[in-house]
Amino acid sequence: MTLDINVGKVRNNCYRQSKIPGEFLLQLRSPGAFLDAKWLEMVQMLCQKYGDGNFHFGTRQTFNITGIKYEDIPKVNEIIKPYIEEIEGDRNVDIEYNDDGYPYIGPRNIMACIGGRHCIKAAQNTQRLADKLEKIIYESPYQIKTAVTGCPNDCVKAHFTDFGFVGVTRPVYDIDRCIGCGACVDRCKAVATRVLSLNDQGKVDKDPCCCVGCGECVTRCPNNAWRRPDRQMWNVIIGGRTGKQFPRMGQMFARWMDEDAVIQMMENWKDFSAYVLDNKPVYLHGGHLIDRVGFPTFKKMMLKDVDLNPECLIADRINWTEKEYRSSINVMKVEDHKNVK
Ligand code: SF4
Ligand code: SF4
Ligand code: SF4
Repeated sequence: MTLDINVGKVRNNCYRQSKIPGEFLLQLRSPGAFLDAKWLEMVQMLCQKYGDGNFHFGTRQTFNITGIKYEDIPKVNEIIKPYIEEIEGDRNVDIEYNDDGYPYIGPRNIMACIGGRHCIKAAQNTQRLADKLEKIIYESPYQIKTAVTGCPNDCVKAHFTDFGFVGVTRPVYDIDRCIGCGACVDRCKAVATRVLSLNDQGKVDKDPCCCVGCGECVTRCPNNAWRRPDRQMWNVIIGGRTGKQFPRMGQMFARWMDEDAVIQMMENWKDFSAYVLDNKPVYLHGGHLIDRVGFPTFKKMMLKDVDLNPECLIADRINWTEKEYRSSINVMKVEDHKNVK
């Protein structure tokens, strides 16, 4: 039997065509990568009944179910409908919950480290921000990759995505509680940016300019002289990407941006994308959109009506440094490269 397969249609519903003809891989979103374990039963059932019995952890933290036959896609969509309704509904995402599964694939799953729920190094709550971002980016069909990481260790590799959000803190020092043991100084020196020193009075001096906001000093103080304030603050990294042509590490766009400003800024993403792409959500990721219109236009549109907190620093310019694969100068003799005369 020959099937009339509409690859483009089901791709938009988050089914990826397999190398095995007629088979597809379903990518289930898991915003912030932290979900109720009850859904694992559904995933297992789908893998065993409609897939090939296997399972893949998606590189963007999706549940990937391999080996789904094209003709079974409607049945699978029926089964995942309650999942989509709950996962997206809990995050107040305003999409149409019809029988076609996901409405679009462009906004990729929001990745996050476990920082929000578990990691003692977390400066901010990654799942909380991921949940807020899901409402913004999954109500829009435009292509974007995002990642949220709880501290500057960046375990989730937010520097290699269109928008990376790095949790940071500005530790507050209580001089009266400080016993001058030097543990925070040693820690900052060992793992961070060496901005602390003990002064003649046995108290701590800090060069606030180069503090990276990791909070390691807080974790080492035996007398709670350092504490993380409740402020929800992020560094925003933009334009990172991998790929065959022009991979590059993202660059810092905003430092010490509070969470309200982050949300306001990201609410401008849809208008920015629509402007660059003339209202057509084609396959072109965020970093490329910035390149297309230039950083000044990106900055102006993304910060439109954003109420920036006083500490927030915004980049004046960005010097991208692409990794140019084609040259491969580091592994080839110059004279072996065809384009070199
Ligand atoms: S990025 Fe920081 S908070 Fe997140 S898992 Fe790594 S160390 Fe923990
Ligand atoms: S937050 Fe990190 S970089 Fe800043 S003073 Fe503490 S240990 Fe040093
Ligand atoms: S670790 Fe705490 S008590 Fe020790 S020097 Fe630092 S702030 Fe003072």
